[in-house]
Amino acid sequence: MAPISKETDYLVIGGGSGGLGSARTAAGKFGAKAMIVEASRLGGTCVNVGCVPKKVTFNAAAIAETIHAAKAYGFSVQETAPFDFKTFKHKRDAYIKRLNGIYERNLGNDGVEYVHGWAKLLNRNEVEITQDDGAKSVVRAKKILIATGGEPTHAPSGVEGAEHGTNSDGFFDIDRTPKKVALVGAGYIAVEFAGMFNALGAETHLFIRHKTFLRNFDPMIQEGVTAEYERLGVKLHKESTPTKVEKDPSTGKLTIHYKDVESGEGQEVEGIDNLIWAIGRTPMSHGIGLEEAGVKLDDRGYVVADDYQNTSVDNIFALGDVCGKVELTPVAIAAGRRLAERLFGPPEFNAARVDYSNIPSVVFAHPEVGSIGLTEPQAVEKYGRDNLKVYSTSFTAMYYAMMDPEDKGPTKYKVICAGPDEKVVGLHIMGLGSGEMLQGFGVAVKMGATKKDLDSCIAIHPTSAEELVTLK
Ligand code: FAD
Ligand code: NDP
Repeated sequence: MAPISKETDYLVIGGGSGGLGSARTAAGKFGAKAMIVEASRLGGTCVNVGCVPKKVTFNAAAIAETIHAAKAYGFSVQETAPFDFKTFKHKRDAYIKRLNGIYERNLGNDGVEYVHGWAKLLNRNEVEITQDDGAKSVVRAKKILIATGGEPTHAPSGVEGAEHGTNSDGFFDIDRTPKKVALVGAGYIAVEFAGMFNALGAETHLFIRHKTFLRNFDPMIQEGVTAEYERLGVKLHKESTPTKVEKDPSTGKLTIHYKDVESGEGQEVEGIDNLIWAIGRTPMSHGIGLEEAGVKLDDRGYVVADDYQNTSVDNIFALGDVCGKVELTPVAIAAGRRLAERLFGPPEFNAARVDYSNIPSVVFAHPEVGSIGLTEPQAVEKYGRDNLKVYSTSFTAMYYAMMDPEDKGPTKYKVICAGPDEKVVGLHIMGLGSGEMLQGFGVAVKMGATKKDLDSCIAIHPTSAEELVTLK
């Protein structure tokens, strides 16, 4: 192992999206002496157990759906074409490993010192690094970045046998299509995973505490996607949470006991191959010396940082999931780059920071969901109902023209406009292609587009997106 520098200008704890973005900008763009410490695999959550392997799996699920659709278009395909999950997983793992290597080489190219180990603050300027062989080193740093991300929230402690389930990290260890799978949760992860399992042919049970999922999204999305999941055959257990999980020692199958809120009665689902808890994420902020160094945490354990990523200690900065503001990879990367520009760049970067308003986001659900800006209830609260004009449409995309009625999925769009100039303050879409479609509309919203601007753009025909520039 190469000796570790004893001093550095910028010590970044966490080699995930935000940490990598910041260290590489500091060293590669501005020549700062930067070090990054990563305890696990380079790339962090997104590359190893998040966005990347998730999207590859989503693509597999989309191909399964396309095989089904192909028949309607006249292809003689064998719809029950077996999906070899083992081979798929093997290739997906190899792809991630390649990415890990690319990230390490990129650090070298940018001149960032990379240390594989566990970092802990000793005080506001000193970090102790424990390497894999147990060797400890202390590095003195002028500036320190906390980019330690988060981890899946543990299953509720009151649920007996909850440990028989896994979490989103464990999802990526699955190497065969489960016959029967159960998920608990109502956010991005539960909804994305449930949609993928269902499309890949697993009997999918989703336990949600309320009547709809994705409750942070516009009601059109919540209600539209929840209804679509039911139509697609996902077994939704609404207003219910598991109370006990039992494992059959001979078969390994799980029985999930839950209380149905409506009937008030105890119910159970048997024969579950995999149970996944997807009930949120918890910041990795404890046991790394933050409190000792004087860094303030909020009551949920997130590091308190302002829009410039300053913490309560003036040479310690924090960003990404450990701050919990907007837990998305591009947000962490942008925050990391802006911070490095501000700290190490020339004076024109003195005010560099991420603009946390109007961040577009996509849920890779079935169908995909895209959202930017305010939901309708948020817009009503901010502007008042009388100052809003809400345009919406619901239609069947042309893709489904050749399909039987039961195979046709919904497309729903909503544009929320405020004030006399009808500035777009919210845009919400669900339907095929929404993931790719939102980025361009995101630029328009960021530039302050009005309804008139949308209307002035000639439609591209025949597409679904054209409906967004022809709303009445
Ligand atoms: P991370 O990427 O989590 O990196 C933190 C790193 O710090 C980790 O590698 C960790 O090992 C390391 N670390 C922690 N403590 C220490 C320590 N003491 N010493 C050394 N190293 C340490 N976002 C999207 O934008 N699009 C998506 O499609 C998407 N899909 C997702 C799917 C899933 C299943 C999950 C879980 C997340 C998904 N996200 C997605 C969110 C995205 O992954 C995160 O927002 C992003 O990774 C946050 O980046 P970060 O740098 O803050 O933290
Ligand atoms: P989320 O915070 O999105 O959702 C978790 C939800 O689970 C809660 O909102 C809650 O919904 C429900 N829940 C909480 N506790 C319990 C419980 N005890 N029992 C049952 N349900 C419970 O977390 P995720 O883990 O899904 O995702 C974490 C973050 O990662 C996301 O917020 C997102 O920022 C990011 N991500 C982004 C993706 C993307 O960009 N496509 C994909 C995946 C993750 P309710 O109150 O309705 O019950």
